[in-house]
Amino acid sequence: MQRPVPPLQGGCGVILRLILGDQLNINHSWFHEPAKNVEYVLMEVREEATYARHHIQKIAAFFGAMQSFAEDLRSRGFAVRYLTLDDPESRGSFGATVKSLLDSGRYDGFEYQAPDEYRVREALAETARRVKVRTQVVESEHFLVEPAFFQKVFAGHKRYTMELFYREVRRRYGFLMEDGEPIGGRWNFDAENRKKLPASAAPPPPLTFARDVTSIVDRVRRAKIPSIGSIAPTAFGWAITRGDALQVLDYFCRELLPHFGSYQDAMHTDHRFLFHSRLSFALNVKLISPREVIEAAIEAWRGSDGAISIEQIEGFVRQIAGWREFMRGIYWARMPEYRTLNFLEAARPLPHYFWDGDTRMNCVAHAVKQSLEESYAHHIQRLMVTGNFAILAGIDPTEVDAWYLGIYIDALEWVELPNTRGMSQFADGGIVGTKPYTSSAQYINKMSNYCSGCFYNFKDKFGERGCPFNTLYWDFLMRHQEKLEKNPRIGMGYRQLDKMAPADRTAIKQKAAEILDQIEEL
Ligand SMILES: Cc1cc2nc3c(=O)[nH]c(=O)nc-3n(C[C@H](O)[C@H](O)[C@H](O)COP(=O)(O)OP(=O)(O)OC[C@H]3O[C@@H](n4cnc5c(N)ncnc54)[C@H](O)[C@@H]3O)c2cc1C
Ligand code: SF4
Repeated sequence: MQRPVPPLQGGCGVILRLILGDQLNINHSWFHEPAKNVEYVLMEVREEATYARHHIQKIAAFFGAMQSFAEDLRSRGFAVRYLTLDDPESRGSFGATVKSLLDSGRYDGFEYQAPDEYRVREALAETARRVKVRTQVVESEHFLVEPAFFQKVFAGHKRYTMELFYREVRRRYGFLMEDGEPIGGRWNFDAENRKKLPASAAPPPPLTFARDVTSIVDRVRRAKIPSIGSIAPTAFGWAITRGDALQVLDYFCRELLPHFGSYQDAMHTDHRFLFHSRLSFALNVKLISPREVIEAAIEAWRGSDGAISIEQIEGFVRQIAGWREFMRGIYWARMPEYRTLNFLEAARPLPHYFWDGDTRMNCVAHAVKQSLEESYAHHIQRLMVTGNFAILAGIDPTEVDAWYLGIYIDALEWVELPNTRGMSQFADGGIVGTKPYTSSAQYINKMSNYCSGCFYNFKDKFGERGCPFNTLYWDFLMRHQEKLEKNPRIGMGYRQLDKMAPADRTAIKQKAAEILDQIEEL
């Protein structure tokens, strides 16, 4: 039952507070108790739905989560306006809509939480400069550490390293620490976390929901918002409320965490989600906080009586306390120039199969089709299949970024960009990672069952059916020899290349040129 909200009188100290679609944090201090003179606004705006070609599930998840959040706030007694895409007061962008609301004279102040994305932060700062009312920006109260912590950790260091940062975050919060030392005697159990899924393993199905988002999808279609991918609007499965997210977290701790670390790099045609948490959307829109996710997982590990090993829990904590916060630190340290970096001068357009999955490369076909159906692929599919292919083939990182930003339900620029342009495409020349994440078919075959069902032969690099990953891998090393050979972490590749017969190197170059020439037909 919704409690009635008394109408607010304008022009008598009423403050307008903007809640962005990724700021659905009910534990934020704004929401401790309803204030008489505050009105909250959430808005569906065209610009946000079109800045990339988004997956329809991503748009539905954002709007669905925003609507549910607005209802939750109303039921707690807060005054909330919710502007839908077709509401005449929704003026196409945050800036224009806020400006027009504030120009109405109903409000005497405007407040917003610091946006996580550079684009939105700039737009709202510009709006704040143009409006006549008092404006205040507050923290979003979500992340474990702020950009200043990141700067402090790396003060005096020549380069950023995730490991150093991760240890400092663990020390600060005492995650998996005892007497100042990491539990288990080591900070990192990554080496134990690279197992292929055994044929006998049957990962539990993902916990899904069956929400009806038909009215949202209809609204998006009516507004002619272009989108990609498919959706079942009457049975939408993603967690879009805090209650859903807490259930997913609980399910993860009970059913998936015991094997999370071991198989976090595995890929399988029959198991799309394996032991992954599927929490990234809920985390990124702040339905749930990184701290509570980590603490719940650590509690499950402590209470598991050894059933959850240190490798599993450490692997999980590292993703959130390490990678997620590290990526955010890099983003704010290096924007806006970061989004223009193209160290390898890659310029080829993205082939059609990134949009339809229609390719004979089984690994790429699986990763893309799954992404179109689920708006999800796990980390290694993103990094070592689609990302690997894109870097080896020299695809323009701006096109690669746009694809990742659109297709994944969890894609917000602050986390997508350092992962894609940095970690996956090495377009930053080594700011995020110390070397490009590239591999031949050998790695994909080791970690998945993709190669056994493929048109291409994972053992071959020259023949008619030689795997394109093999040919392009060696060609990539030759193409970028000048830029990469001094990198100690790729030394082994160059040493192997040195031992290769000149005729083989020539054959690889020729075959790679053919592949790249016919890239749309692979
Ligand atoms: C090219 C590329 C693009 C990516 N784009 C995004 C993106 O737009 N948004 C996004 O949230 N993640 C992105 N990631 C990171 C990672 O792939 C996803 O966070 C993860 O697949 C989400 O699924 P999950 O919740 O089941 O994760 P799990 O495997 O269960 O991991 C738990 C959590 O750890 C965090 N995490 C794990 N790895 C990373 C990472 N590298 N960076 C940041 N957080 C991490 C996520 O919050 C995730 O929910 C990208 C990775 C790559 C290689
Ligand atoms: S053989 Fe090559 S293209 Fe085919 S699945 Fe394996 S790595 Fe992918």
